[in-house]
Amino acid sequence: MPSGETDHQAISRRAAAISESATLALDRRVKELRAAGSDVISFAAGEPDFATPLVVVEAAARACRDPRWHHYTPAAGLPELRQAVASHTGRRDGLELVPEQVLITNGTKQAVAHAFTLLLDPGDEVLVPSPYWVSFPEAIALAGGRAVPVPTSEATGFRVTPEDLDRHLTPRTKALLFVSPSNPTGSVYRREQMLAVGRWAVDHGLWVVCDEIYDHFTYDGAEFNSLPAVVPELQSRALLLNGVAKAYSMTGWRVGWLVGPRATVEAAANLQSHVCGNISNISQVAALAALEEGASAAAEMRTAFARRRSAMLEYMDRVPGFECPAPEGAFYLFPSVRGALGRMIGGQIVETSAQLAAVLLEQARIAVVPGEAFNAPGYVRFSYALADQDLAEGMARLLRLLG
Ligand code: GLU
Repeated sequence: MPSGETDHQAISRRAAAISESATLALDRRVKELRAAGSDVISFAAGEPDFATPLVVVEAAARACRDPRWHHYTPAAGLPELRQAVASHTGRRDGLELVPEQVLITNGTKQAVAHAFTLLLDPGDEVLVPSPYWVSFPEAIALAGGRAVPVPTSEATGFRVTPEDLDRHLTPRTKALLFVSPSNPTGSVYRREQMLAVGRWAVDHGLWVVCDEIYDHFTYDGAEFNSLPAVVPELQSRALLLNGVAKAYSMTGWRVGWLVGPRATVEAAANLQSHVCGNISNISQVAALAALEEGASAAAEMRTAFARRRSAMLEYMDRVPGFECPAPEGAFYLFPSVRGALGRMIGGQIVETSAQLAAVLLEQARIAVVPGEAFNAPGYVRFSYALADQDLAEGMARLLRLLG
């Protein structure tokens, strides 16, 4: 009988080296606290609070009742959904895409894992602009590669430049990770900045892996652009990662996709056929309904995020020691909290952003993700994908503790 204890010597070094996702760990903790009766307010996981649009739910309910969807389907995804993703992405980018360029995955996270497995041989390096989302280095390590952080700063709005990239290029560099709008910083690249970065990748013969999951979320006139649409020479070396989770409030349905050159997607489909077979047909039918009929619901949710962003920025201005530039995308604020450190907060001296996050959870019952999770100590990530009244109450608690 298994003892229930994990003997770390018994599992592979590769698996033992992986730690739990900090964002999901915090989300788990929030849910445990709530189950135990605490009224904790969470600015932690980037998860829209809305119910999935009814039109999507109804399509899924119909699919459940139809035996046609009760059995295996092609590993690469339902042909209708692959077609819809190709049309949707092609329309967005002004490109002609075919369904064979699309692989449907179990959430965008699986597209992330596939992308690095497809590209990396042992020891290959991926340039990862930092701060970065928690799962990227782990997905790269699991694929046998090495994540090479490329530091960015507030001075460039956390956007990487060719000069920054030059400093970290080696003969082993295989790919560049490109995330705009960014998690955790919310920054959005301008077109001319993308041209510079994209041409740099072309000049060095690199692949680009583009996380586009926040493509619906830009504000203040900022525009989303896809890197291979801006730099067409990248089209044969770009993998685009996206899904329905954020735009249509469908985090639990687990439908993402990877878009890329046909031969690469075919290799990805081979991989997937052994890893998980097809993604749940019910969820795929739901994702199809989201793409075909969910636009107005997505637009309403986006309007709510814009409103919450403005409210959050006003609150942030009033928090002593926080410096919060206005990010143009995603649904995160990423204030520097360095001015609040070294002070007595809630009866203890708080020296780091990790300690600050712990104190906020213990004493104010608000959950935030410390910058340490994103390789950015001194910062804290606030997701504003929560209900307006929770947002107001959470920020009031923050101001009471720090004000
Ligand atoms: N991507 C979201 C976040 O960063 C959801 C949690 C996760 O998958 O990491 O909070």
